[in-house]
Amino acid sequence: MRLFESIIDANHRAVAGDANAGLHPDEFADALPVVALTCIDPRLNAFFPNALALPAEEFIWLRNAGNIITDKLSSTMRSLALACAVKGGREIAIIGHSDCQVAKTPMTLLLDKLVALGVERSRLPDNLAEFFGTFSSERQNVIKACDFARNSPLIGLKIPVHGLMIDTETGKLDWVVNGYETLQTLAQPTMPKMDFAALGSLGAFKDFDMGEMKFPEMKIGEAALPGNPLKSGIAPVLNLSPIPPPPIVKPPPPLRPAKVPLPPPIRPRGFQ
Ligand SMILES: [Zn+2]
Repeated sequence: MRLFESIIDANHRAVAGDANAGLHPDEFADALPVVALTCIDPRLNAFFPNALALPAEEFIWLRNAGNIITDKLSSTMRSLALACAVKGGREIAIIGHSDCQVAKTPMTLLLDKLVALGVERSRLPDNLAEFFGTFSSERQNVIKACDFARNSPLIGLKIPVHGLMIDTETGKLDWVVNGYETLQTLAQPTMPKMDFAALGSLGAFKDFDMGEMKFPEMKIGEAALPGNPLKSGIAPVLNLSPIPPPPIVKPPPPLRPAKVPLPPPIRPRGFQ
């Protein structure tokens, strides 16, 4: 099984009460770390990353209200792309949740709440639903977000994009979009290839400012060597005195990282 198939299998076993359910992250080293976009709902705080049975260092967490992606080049898409390119994310998961208040708040109520907070309606965009990306179906919202991410020119075909739902009471995860299957479909020769021309010319990247990314000018190692002879132009003085051979140290046997335990921290309904 691939990483997210194993995650969901372990999650379902844990929710069913299997105390031994979990993953060995070393078995999935090629698929880690994962990048997950979830909602801001505080009920999710206790679920991640343990509902995925991943150690914290293998989990890059992005959050916004409603785990919404509004466009193939949106700011959330930029963060997802940089999470992969800069932080090494190998797979993306967009994880919606049950009982999402973004889905349950009608636009009239949202407006009332904004006005109560001192926001002037006249200063808001005309089409608020489009602006905030609000939705009525959590599953449809995840499908839409996966569609934007999968077709974004910022995400290459080496990165699977999955869609999941998590139950805010039990921590149970369920598939919405299997990103491995989507990739297989895209790889079929009979299927039309991605139309990158339709995604827009380079002009579409005008607001993607690579200048915001800071990269160190100095090569690794230079900073750690004061008076680096290669940098200063001074040849190093060779020490010709005999150097005793280093003592032979037997390397310790490789330790297998511990299995990351799962179940989720909140007990399933009806589980005492
Ligand atoms: Zn939510």
